[in-house]
Amino acid sequence: MLMIKERRPAIRTLRGWAISVLQEAGAIRECEEHGWMQDRADPHARERALAAARRDPPDDVSRDEAVAEVCDVLDSIGDTCPECPPEDHGVNP
Ligand SMILES: [Zn+2]
Repeated sequence: MLMIKERRPAIRTLRGWAISVLQEAGAIRECEEHGWMQDRADPHARERALAAARRDPPDDVSRDEAVAEVCDVLDSIGDTCPECPPEDHGVNP
């Protein structure tokens, strides 16, 4: 189940779409404990997500807007969960 913490509800739909594209591509993942999205820093996954956004944007959104939103989400997501202790990252599979 998705649990996405949202700070800008006005663009929740497009943002939620961008997050799902990034998740499907494996560019981000969700912290299992806290639900925060984490950037996996995988350039190939990012390319896949951007290609998917370009190929299949939401109905009422242009390709440029869709790609821009995916980039914006990537920019806004850190590579660690803000609630996880830093020592716990990068060690577990
Ligand atoms: Zn966490």
